[in-house]
Amino acid sequence: MLVGGVDSPVRAFRSVGGSPVFFARGTGAYLIDVDGRRYLDLVSSWGANILGNAPPGVVAAVRAAAVRGLTFGAPSPLEHELAEEIRRAVPVAERLRFVSSGTEAVMSAVRAARGFTGRSKVVKFDGGYHGHSDGLLARAGSGVATASLPDSAGVPSAVVGETLVSRYNDPDSLADLFERQGSAVAAVVVEPVAGNMGVVLPQPGFLSAVSRLAHDHGALVIADEVITGFRLRRGTVHESLGLHADLVTLGKVIGGGMPVGAYGGRRDVMEVVAPLGPVYQAGTLSGNPVAMAAGRAMLDRLTASTYSTLERLGAQLEALLHRLSDEVGGAPVTLTRAGSMLGLFFAGGPIRDRQDAERSDRNRYARFFHAVLDRGVYLPPSALETTFLSAAIRPRDLQLAESALRAGFRAARSA
Ligand SMILES: *Cc1c(COP(=O)(O)O)cnc(C)c1O
Repeated sequence: MLVGGVDSPVRAFRSVGGSPVFFARGTGAYLIDVDGRRYLDLVSSWGANILGNAPPGVVAAVRAAAVRGLTFGAPSPLEHELAEEIRRAVPVAERLRFVSSGTEAVMSAVRAARGFTGRSKVVKFDGGYHGHSDGLLARAGSGVATASLPDSAGVPSAVVGETLVSRYNDPDSLADLFERQGSAVAAVVVEPVAGNMGVVLPQPGFLSAVSRLAHDHGALVIADEVITGFRLRRGTVHESLGLHADLVTLGKVIGGGMPVGAYGGRRDVMEVVAPLGPVYQAGTLSGNPVAMAAGRAMLDRLTASTYSTLERLGAQLEALLHRLSDEVGGAPVTLTRAGSMLGLFFAGGPIRDRQDAERSDRNRYARFFHAVLDRGVYLPPSALETTFLSAAIRPRDLQLAESALRAGFRAARSA
């Protein structure tokens, strides 16, 4: 009955073959399918479940909020509290607006940037994913890439024509683009650590060049931290990576497992948004009290020790994968990692951009994925998606996954 059996395409396993696992429950580091089989969860709901499945404190906050009202369609104190908490960790967000998804957050940030600058073009990077709004579905990474759609049908070329695509980690191509069309560019949108073509780390100097070029040409910078925000540290990562952002977008982790996105930034830019300014943006369920309660409870639990735990787990998994791929041998494997985000490419390195990422051998990944899945470890069902760890995982859980991962590399090796 559901289109393709799913509500989001990557879930359909098209890129790895076979049929999707249907989950009945999740608890801590594990997911349990409808037949009662247990899987170590290395997807973490695409990064949102940073504390694992159904963390008790977040669940309790959701319960308590739900009995007070599921939605008001009017302001409530909780959204202000969560906004304040985000502001303390995200200095660029002088003003914030909650929405219900990362897609909406980026779409709205782009609209605000256009309204503020009076310009129409937006620059994105090949392999960057910024949600499925029409204009941003150009060369958009994992889900779109593995569906083999260059763009999406149903998106008018006039709309995508306002989107300019540059190469990640290639400041020269961006400089060229600005040279030619800089005066028409409203904003550059960039993932400070790319997480939608596997994990692609920004090379030194790339992000600072992005903001310098944008600002020299009067364009704004949107740091799309829907994945990285509150996943790599308590707050955003663009500052420490040299990107001077005017606007930032958040999602995934800040919703505590509920549908939440947010965009924020410089006060003068954000004040173009209604009701203060002429840029319209609204949402019936925006700032939903149950979702806000989940977000608050989540953020309350993200401490320095959460991030050091995640870093240790990330390093442990990376070392384990290195050791096993060396031991098993076969085609080259390249690992990329930022904290609890890990990219696994069946290709030689380095991986600097979409073209590099796409060298990853999808057939090998598919065999790896299924061998590992059969042994109770749930990895992202696509070669170009990120593996996400949660702080609910114990070092021992990863040790137990060793034999599954070894079997995966063996399956990947066999032609
Ligand atoms: C997931 C993601 C989005 C879209 O968020 P949704 O909640 O899926 O709409 C936008 N940008 C980035 C970087 C993402 O990873």
